[in-house]
Amino acid sequence: MKLHELADAFEHLEGTRSRVALVERVAALLRRATATERTPIVYLLQARLRPPFEQTEVAVGEKLLAQAVARAYHVSHARVAQRLARSGDLGLVAAELAAARLASRLTVHQAYDALLAIARVSGTGSVERKTSLLASLLSRAGPAGAKLVARVAQGRLRLGVGDQTILEAAALAALGDRSKKPLLEHAYNVRSDLGTVVDLAFTKGAAGLAGVGPEVGIPVRPALAQRLPSAEAIIARLGEVQAEPKYDGFRLQIHRRGSRVWAFSRRLEDVTSMFPELVAAARRQLVPRTAILEGEAVVYNPETGEFLPFQITMTRKRKTRIAEAAERTPVRLFAFDLLYTGRRNYLPVAQATRTHALRAALRASPDAPIAVTEARVIARPRELQTYFDEMIERGLEGIVAKRLDAPYQAGARGYAWVKLKRAYQSALRDTVDVVLVGYFRGRGKRAALGIGSLLGAVYDPRGDRYRTVAKIGSGLSDRAWTSLRTLLDAHAVPERPVNVDALITPDVWVEPAIVVEVLADEITRSPFHTCGRHDDEPGYALRFPRVVNAPRSDKAPTDATTEREILTLYRQQRRTPTEARPRSRNTRARGTAKRAPR
Ligand code: ATP
Repeated sequence: MKLHELADAFEHLEGTRSRVALVERVAALLRRATATERTPIVYLLQARLRPPFEQTEVAVGEKLLAQAVARAYHVSHARVAQRLARSGDLGLVAAELAAARLASRLTVHQAYDALLAIARVSGTGSVERKTSLLASLLSRAGPAGAKLVARVAQGRLRLGVGDQTILEAAALAALGDRSKKPLLEHAYNVRSDLGTVVDLAFTKGAAGLAGVGPEVGIPVRPALAQRLPSAEAIIARLGEVQAEPKYDGFRLQIHRRGSRVWAFSRRLEDVTSMFPELVAAARRQLVPRTAILEGEAVVYNPETGEFLPFQITMTRKRKTRIAEAAERTPVRLFAFDLLYTGRRNYLPVAQATRTHALRAALRASPDAPIAVTEARVIARPRELQTYFDEMIERGLEGIVAKRLDAPYQAGARGYAWVKLKRAYQSALRDTVDVVLVGYFRGRGKRAALGIGSLLGAVYDPRGDRYRTVAKIGSGLSDRAWTSLRTLLDAHAVPERPVNVDALITPDVWVEPAIVVEVLADEITRSPFHTCGRHDDEPGYALRFPRVVNAPRSDKAPTDATTEREILTLYRQQRRTPTEARPRSRNTRARGTAKRAPR
């Protein structure tokens, strides 16, 4: 396939608002591709070159890309800047400047290989080398191809095609029916490489997908926990449980093959270099030479044994600080699950057996960096409540109760694991992670900052879209507003992104990319928001929302709270008698507490 043919197909997708049509068009594109083109096209559809855990992205900043564009078309930087100011999109600028050129004969393979080569440039002089390779590729790509190349180089394609759309399209194209998507989803949850999974669907069909097991070096999509409001509700639903402390740290999946060790984040990024002490410990402490385990990494002060706040883990993002941080504030991993050893795939195995096998797989000692999370089997609500209170007393976030006979539910938020957290001072007992889809410039003092409030949305995996749930105007300092605005401006788009469903129009639309954690007083019905809205029924909204953590960089937009979770939270909140609910300071101060309409 020629690059311009792929670019034309992408252009078509960009203009498609109907999801059914989008799925059909992606399916047609996958069918048209040859066997070797399919995998690269799947990654390109996501504006990437390889799966996220390989960190092989071009990811150049606007400045470098603008330089490459100027060089490719022999125009001045000022001219590129002028056009950029007009359209706000270097992809369009490149396409305009390339318009006078001859049609390009570049193939998808050639362009993809060239992009890979650019992504792999490193070391001294890499900026100059990247610019010149990118300029050379742009100059050969033709107008439509240049737009595609420039956008992939920036990691944003604006197609509104997410993982769920690709999985559905691949089910249609490879298995003949979009309803077969769960087969692909299963394989993707176990082996989070979309390109490989789509290829498998075409080459090995349903049987091949069903047989996918974990592979060391490729992260398994993490199992997630549901919420229930109380210890009674947990025992009523799960029966006897394995209760564990809930550490507030950084979720890690550790993979080992011989002396090679990887650490993957909750977002499936390779974060191995951030945790040198855990890499060394995995080699020493793990009995099996091949294994995948999971746990929560927590920073602690070795002198006092005290746990330090979550954010400190984030300071390890800077390479130069890692060695120093590993010494001063080492990390301890509380392992809570075993997913795989060279001898056995533990995913289908019951929780109780997995926990047992985890204990046998680790050489534990009191000060070792990897410890097995303590666990207690509990059958009575009162005992579970006491255990929860003990954990809160110890300064922990709460507990996770696990069903003893449940398999590991990769990529799913099921009732196999249920979290119970310290009740917040509000009716809504848990925070919600919303994806920002736009912002308002604000009035008064905020107008000076250029940002006054945020438009937040939740994720709807079935529709692979984001539906609004809140307008959030508090919780941040002036400095935090300013830096959030800079982050958002990097994702600003001239009109509503195709995968955003909204009735409200913000001053600036942004592509769904940034997640923030929000606390609210309660969930109410609202005619202004699209979350949960259907036919004539109003939607759902967060009441008095305020940001408590921004951005939540450990979560991708698709990891945000889902529309379904909001509906569940709404029902749970209605079941809690109002009198028993602690009322928030916010609500009392305004004196406007109202019950959610029934
Ligand atoms: P989620 O990960 O469920 O999307 P979240 O990131 O907002 O939500 P929480 O709601 O606080 O996190 O709870 C789930 C997280 O708790 C897990 O992803 C894991 O990182 C962490 N965790 C801490 N201790 C445990 C434990 N013993 N078992 C399982 N998870 C644990």
